[in-house]
Amino acid sequence: MVTRSDCVALDAADRLAPHRDRFRLPEGIIYLDGNSLGPLSTSVVDGMTRAVAGEWGEGLIRSWNSAGWVDLPARVGDRIARLIGAEPGTVMVGDSTSINLYKAVDGARRLRPGRRLVVTDSGNFPTDLYVLQGVCSAAGLDLEVVAPDRVLSAICDDTAVVALTEVDYRTGRRHDMVSLTAAAHAAGAIAVWDLAHSAGAFPVELAGVGADFAVGCGYKYLNGGPGAPGFLYVAPSHRDGWRNPITGWFGHSRPFAFEPVFDPAEGIDRAAVGTPAILSMAALDAALDVFDDVDLAEVRRKSLALTDLFIDLIDEHLPELEVITPRDHSSRGSHVSLRHEDGYPIIQALIARGVIGDFRSPDILRFGFAPLYLSHLDVFEAVEHLVEVMASDEWRQPRFAMRLAVT
Ligand SMILES: *Cc1c(COP(=O)(O)O)cnc(C)c1O
Repeated sequence: MVTRSDCVALDAADRLAPHRDRFRLPEGIIYLDGNSLGPLSTSVVDGMTRAVAGEWGEGLIRSWNSAGWVDLPARVGDRIARLIGAEPGTVMVGDSTSINLYKAVDGARRLRPGRRLVVTDSGNFPTDLYVLQGVCSAAGLDLEVVAPDRVLSAICDDTAVVALTEVDYRTGRRHDMVSLTAAAHAAGAIAVWDLAHSAGAFPVELAGVGADFAVGCGYKYLNGGPGAPGFLYVAPSHRDGWRNPITGWFGHSRPFAFEPVFDPAEGIDRAAVGTPAILSMAALDAALDVFDDVDLAEVRRKSLALTDLFIDLIDEHLPELEVITPRDHSSRGSHVSLRHEDGYPIIQALIARGVIGDFRSPDILRFGFAPLYLSHLDVFEAVEHLVEVMASDEWRQPRFAMRLAVT
């Protein structure tokens, strides 16, 4: 049985605990939704003031050169590269994850002409499935959607692309990137990974596993703010062979020559499309300061400790809530999901108490554990609130049943 004082002791020994002061978390809130929208950090407030009042306000259009706006996508890309085990010069920041996935998958399938199949799994995020459907229908390919544990056996010598998300947004199940990438390669296919729930949550080794392409979000564990740009990784082996299917002027080799015919830029610069969203990117850039002196292996250890603690407390106090996240560490991301048919009003009742998690249709209560600003005591108190919400039937109040637009 875990007690409150056990949690206090764990927090006292936690070397990541001081990082919490870098975030501007509101008083009285236990924030368990950083996997969906990371919180504001102090460095972002300062960075945005600099970018808005200084670079834009004072520098005006000169800032494209004097403030280095023109190189910002590649510079922020290199900072993210360090967090996902990518080589320098292989990551471009910009556009949304959905658009980057389109660029990656359509570019990838062109590298395997004559092959007919794209393989993914049924747990993938809807936008990923939709983008894959779009690419396949435009290219005349078949999309094979299999259960997550059937991916390995679905890969064959007709597979052009294996496109997967490492951590399942619903269940928190983590795929084995090493074996799946190796299987794709053994069959002659290209491996595209979505790191939406991975980047910033634990160490990723893109170069180490030999991934061909990867995409991810700036606003989840990287804390870049609502709608922050995503990123696209292209492995060095595809540097010259890969073509971005969206041929815009920022991906041209000489954008300011204003030539009438497209000619792709060298290297990762061809991943760009149009004018980068500088202010959003400045926020993401500043948010990454938080990671400068962070060892992601330590973040992973604490993430496992927090998720273990949460699962143990749920098992002990709330057996009516089914833990659907794998208990095996190697198959777990950084969030934990519970199943209950009244998940929506339960989450709303919790949010009203200041414990913010989210709901995923049809019956999943989801709780993200970002180790840079959460304590063991936060986990303990969140479960205390959940116990009270369930025991008192508080969640049955009609106000909690009203569906909001964003869940
Ligand atoms: C959050 C998430 C996205 C979001 O894509 P956007 O284009 O940024 O809206 C995509 N894929 C996965 C797997 C996600 O978890």
